[in-house]
Amino acid sequence: MNIQVNNNDMNRYKALFFDLDDTLLCYDKCCRYALKTGLEALDIGYSEEVYAIFDDIAQRLFREQKEGKYTVAEVMDLYPVVFVRQMGFGPEKVGPFKHAFRSGWAVSHDLMPGVVETLEWCRGKFDMYIISNSFLWSQLSRLREAGIRDYFRDVYASDMLGYDKPDVRFFEEALRRSGLSAAEVLVIGDSLTADIAGASKAGLDTCWYDFRHRGPSSAVSPVHTVTELLQIREIPGCRDER
Ligand SMILES: [Mg+2]
Repeated sequence: MNIQVNNNDMNRYKALFFDLDDTLLCYDKCCRYALKTGLEALDIGYSEEVYAIFDDIAQRLFREQKEGKYTVAEVMDLYPVVFVRQMGFGPEKVGPFKHAFRSGWAVSHDLMPGVVETLEWCRGKFDMYIISNSFLWSQLSRLREAGIRDYFRDVYASDMLGYDKPDVRFFEEALRRSGLSAAEVLVIGDSLTADIAGASKAGLDTCWYDFRHRGPSSAVSPVHTVTELLQIREIPGCRDER
């Protein structure tokens, strides 16, 4: 464990970088909401079968993004094309579906468990930032809809930084813009690949939010692991020492 230096507390991190989807907002619920909105453009009703088709495509493309095959922006453009085709519609439906889906996504905001309690506990102790592989406009909109925008000093999205997690340049650019050093920051996220591996490579301490209870991985070693968000209160460097 590195010793963090901060003016007020010698052992405490100065800032927390939070991933957004599946760390603070529930990706699955948000995605279902966006898909329901998107399907209106195709005049078909929502069902779990349709969601499974969509989710399968998105999961595969985002997995390939993390392997470096696509950028996040390319995936965002690609999955409507693949989904609309797979549902049996022609290319003329891609634009309307994509537009409707994104409108739904921009207001989707289901919170993960314990988020408000955690942010309230962190408020005043740390400067908090969002680090997200997505579009700035949609993530800002979703944070506002969820009522948690004001907890964060800034929001770093991959489209504005010019790099996607896990690229170390994403984290370096976030540090540069925040004026923080790697030793002052703890990165908290659910993705071992995008959040933990990327941040570790950039020299930042990491906290894996293993809410799926997957357990330790042989490939990636987070500095800390929690299964509930509020457990970050117990992390050395976060907890109240007095
Ligand atoms: Mg995530």
